[in-house]
Amino acid sequence: MSVLILKQTRDIGDGTGYKSRAVADDSLVLSADKTLQDVNDGKLIRKIGVSVCSGCGIGCIYCFTRKFKDWRQLSVAEIVNQVELVHANFALDSPGYDEVKISFKQMGDVSLNVDNTCQAIEQMYARWPFLHFVVSTSGSRNPKLFVRLRQLHEQGIQLRLQFSCHTTSDEERNFLSPQVPMMTLAEIAEVANHWPGNRVTLNFVVMESMNYDVSLLAKLFDVDRVFIKVNFLDDNQQLAKHGLVDASEEKVRVFISDLQNYGFRFAFRHGSLLQ
Ligand code: SF4
Repeated sequence: MSVLILKQTRDIGDGTGYKSRAVADDSLVLSADKTLQDVNDGKLIRKIGVSVCSGCGIGCIYCFTRKFKDWRQLSVAEIVNQVELVHANFALDSPGYDEVKISFKQMGDVSLNVDNTCQAIEQMYARWPFLHFVVSTSGSRNPKLFVRLRQLHEQGIQLRLQFSCHTTSDEERNFLSPQVPMMTLAEIAEVANHWPGNRVTLNFVVMESMNYDVSLLAKLFDVDRVFIKVNFLDDNQQLAKHGLVDASEEKVRVFISDLQNYGFRFAFRHGSLLQ
């Protein structure tokens, strides 16, 4: 039985955006189905973005969910149903893709909905064992998340762990996500350095007003256990309110040059700065 009603699909350039409403209470649920080519190995990746909450309780000051009045966890069925809607439109096992990923970062944070997200992963894996799962978190403090993810990993589920860091200052991380206790970078490093699966991804959206101290990253993180993604802000109305702007080209250049010098593996959205 469907627990979501699909209201709209729209072209989002590299794929299709899905807007649904929960049957239970009309909550908004956003999903996306994108096709991407890996710049390093040319692999064709299908990435299905799934929400784990309607709205979000982390309250990152740069996030579009700030305009929601409230938030709630999505149920297991509401998470799985998003993938079923995508599958009904375009089968998950359609030929031509090297990898099909489910990414839990469309809306909400897995640290706020650990049990339902992990049960949804188990259900989807049972039906579509070829799926890869990307679990991204802002790193709000909930150690249970990593215990449950390890259990899924031990079941043989292909799972990639990502943290949104965005600055190398713990104080600035708390400023960016002020509503809940956030993990320090040292705590993130403790998880990443001992994570049993693939390298853990650390996402950095580089902003002009934030600090990027790569020597600190090198002290905390095992360079062989992490992969760093350097990115720019996604534009929305929240950014101007808090004076958040993309870092200058020079600042980004210094950051990626430091990453190179300290031996980190990384990818940069605008490859030309690497020249
Ligand atoms: S954790 Fe993600 S969805 Fe939640 S407020 Fe932060 S950026 Fe938005």
